[in-house]
Amino acid sequence: MKLTQKKINKNRFFMIIAIVLGFFLLAVYMLLSDINHTNKSVKRFDHFVRNEMRDIVRNEVLNRIDEIEYDLSMLHKEQNKIIKGKIEMIAHMLLSSDTAKINNMEERKIEFLKEFERIAKADKEYLYFALSTEGILLRSSTDDRREGKNIIDSKDQEGSYYIREMLKVINKQEGIYVTYYSPKEKDGEPLRKTSYCLYIPEFDIIIGTGSYDVDIEKVLKEATFSRIQSYYQDSEDYIFIVGYDGIAHVFGDNRLIGKSTKKIYDTNGKSIHKLFMEAIENDSEGYVNYDYYKRNSKEKSEKISFVKRLDMWEAYIAMGFHVDDLNQELNIHINDFKSEYYKELIFTLILMFFIGLVILYFVRKSLILQSQYIHQEEIVFEKLFQLSSEGILIVSNQGNVIFQNPIINKIIGENLSDYIDKEGQVYFNEISEDVYSIKNDNGRTYYIEWNKKSIIYHGIDSYIYFISDITSKFLKSNELEHMALYDELTKLPNRRKLIDDFKYIIENNTAKDSTVIAMIDLDYFKKVNDEYGHAIGDEVLKLVGECFTNKLRKRDQIYRLGGEEFIVLLRDITIEDAQSVLTNICNEFYDMSKERFGFPITFSGGATEVELNLYGEVCLGDVLNKADILLYKAKNKGRARIEI
Ligand code: GH3
Ligand code: MG
Ligand code: MG
Repeated sequence: MKLTQKKINKNRFFMIIAIVLGFFLLAVYMLLSDINHTNKSVKRFDHFVRNEMRDIVRNEVLNRIDEIEYDLSMLHKEQNKIIKGKIEMIAHMLLSSDTAKINNMEERKIEFLKEFERIAKADKEYLYFALSTEGILLRSSTDDRREGKNIIDSKDQEGSYYIREMLKVINKQEGIYVTYYSPKEKDGEPLRKTSYCLYIPEFDIIIGTGSYDVDIEKVLKEATFSRIQSYYQDSEDYIFIVGYDGIAHVFGDNRLIGKSTKKIYDTNGKSIHKLFMEAIENDSEGYVNYDYYKRNSKEKSEKISFVKRLDMWEAYIAMGFHVDDLNQELNIHINDFKSEYYKELIFTLILMFFIGLVILYFVRKSLILQSQYIHQEEIVFEKLFQLSSEGILIVSNQGNVIFQNPIINKIIGENLSDYIDKEGQVYFNEISEDVYSIKNDNGRTYYIEWNKKSIIYHGIDSYIYFISDITSKFLKSNELEHMALYDELTKLPNRRKLIDDFKYIIENNTAKDSTVIAMIDLDYFKKVNDEYGHAIGDEVLKLVGECFTNKLRKRDQIYRLGGEEFIVLLRDITIEDAQSVLTNICNEFYDMSKERFGFPITFSGGATEVELNLYGEVCLGDVLNKADILLYKAKNKGRARIEI
């Protein structure tokens, strides 16, 4: 019993463990999938950062180029201011000098030009010229061969009439700038030149000065290179500016400045300069991937560089980054992520473990309490069962008797197994509706009523049987019933029983042959009483019962109607056969009574078949009336006969 209880508790215990374990595994799964998710994010992040880094180096390079271009435009502006200032100053100076005192305008003009030439020769950096309004070159600091010639139709290297452009200054208050390409060439390229032209109305001439762009740009180039070089001096990142010829202008290792970089190779033995040149061969910019040693180390690492052309200086500008550096940075982040997650995982596992322990503690406690409670309850019930006046029997559904109270011992005895099957069902002998009989070990018969209920007793699926001893009640009611239906003297069934039986036969008549009812009346019975006494009369009546009971077939029955009148019910018989059967019995009775009492007694009878009346029904009263008439006929005909 206790073992089974433990087993049930154990099952519940394992169920709880399974639930806790399920939650636990779910938590682990969620955390692991989270880590997986994070790894994917890290990969995406890595990809993103790589692209970002490519953009960063590109922007860095483009910014430097913007700066250079800005510087250049500023320089040009500055230069324009200078040349304008120079011409305006010269004009003002010469017009207000001693020459102004000369009256002859022609002479004054010659003097002006002389003075202009003197100044021009002193200032070697700038190119001076004077033109007549017709386009005659009056003075030139570079081209004295053409002096005195009309150069109005001169075209520059790009085919523009730059002299005509200059002549447009006539009648203008301010001077004008004219940009053109000088016939002077450098490396096959025409040199750009900007001049400021001012009209001098007093002498009807134009004077101007200018400079080659390259000269300005050269100044800028040197300044820019040294600025950028110093800007990145203390930085981890480097911008490189290298000429198409491979000469380094700005370089990570400043010992290489001014020297060729053609012999710097990547780890696969390819010239990096060559790789860069290839990248900008068709496009003005591009990315270059190559393996190179990391700074101050012999470690190889993938490097990505952005390179863009700087055509004006016949150089390229480039910047790159080591992918490894990026990865290192990323790995730190990934490891941070991972250790965060592992921490979380371990924390969750420990938490789940403790939650599980707490749940188990309470579940166990409640199970123990519950089982203690059930046990106490069962003890109380057991006591009540012991005291019960009703028989109480508890049988497991395996057919084992778990409990039986003293009443059961009394009614059934010890040998219960005869009445219980392997499923715990009981079998008693049913003698009438809901009444069962049990033959006790001592041979006594008990009459019982019982009912059953399913219960769990001591943790076992069982049936509880309530067995009531109704022996005395049953016997009493049986007796009363008997008295109501049987005649006390002859022990024969009476009129009431006849009515019941007749009803039963009519309702359940399946017989092919007819049913016959005969009314029997003893002949001259009054005389028997009178002559031999009432007691002998009673004995005669008893003998009627005896005789008929012996002689009739099992299915036939005699009833005492009252006094010395009887009814015989014969089934499955023809009326003729019934007559002969009854006549035989009459003869028999004659012999038997003569033998027993010393005088013979006879009876008369009227027998009739049971038939439907006018209304299509069978009515006992009608049948009896008919039999009574026939009986009367038999009496009249001299008695000791059966009329049909
Ligand atoms: P018959 O041949 O015409 O039937 O004559 P009978 O004398 O049998 O008819 P009757 O009806 O006049 O007599 C019936 C008698 O039966 C009257 C009564 O005293 C007697 N009797 C009725 N019941 C009992 C009984 O229980 N015991 C005894 N001993 N006699 C009874
Ligand atoms: Mg009579
Ligand atoms: Mg009679």
